[in-house]
Amino acid sequence: MDSLFETINKIISSPLWTLALYVLAFCLVGLWLALIFWTFKDARKRIDDPIIVGVAVLTSLVLPYMGTVIYAILRPAEYLAETRERELEVRAMEQELQIMRACPSCGELIRPEYVACPNCRRTLRSICPACERVQEPGWKLCPYCGHDPRVKRVAPPTDEDTQFWVAED
Ligand SMILES: [Zn+2]
Ligand SMILES: [Zn+2]
Repeated sequence: MDSLFETINKIISSPLWTLALYVLAFCLVGLWLALIFWTFKDARKRIDDPIIVGVAVLTSLVLPYMGTVIYAILRPAEYLAETRERELEVRAMEQELQIMRACPSCGELIRPEYVACPNCRRTLRSICPACERVQEPGWKLCPYCGHDPRVKRVAPPTDEDTQFWVAED
């Protein structure tokens, strides 16, 4: 037994052992500092409130390794940029739904610029035959070009007509 203790004592007191301990301690401290830095970087991307970011970093600092593990479990699932992007998408979708109306025949959602329902083929609005712009249902004439469907316009005289009149004189 004595020789065993002696061997252990020799190993512990050897400079190589001390060096190994230093290297181990250095690595552990380095990893700890890296984890604190990682917590700071990650928390800033996920958390808007600087106080909560500070608490997360402090937890990593006070509780080496464990603090970072706790942060990794409790941290918000998505980045702030992703959250903002999703909010914008939802808002855009809501706006789109607000401007869309329902088809009076089948209830299909239709955009304001549609002239017919893509689902039941119902004509929703007409198109001016003269300028081909979309007409609102209540319009009596086309406000863009003045085309009035009730007024039958007399065609302006052509060159042939003029020639005929000249010839008759
Ligand atoms: Zn329809
Ligand atoms: Zn027109």
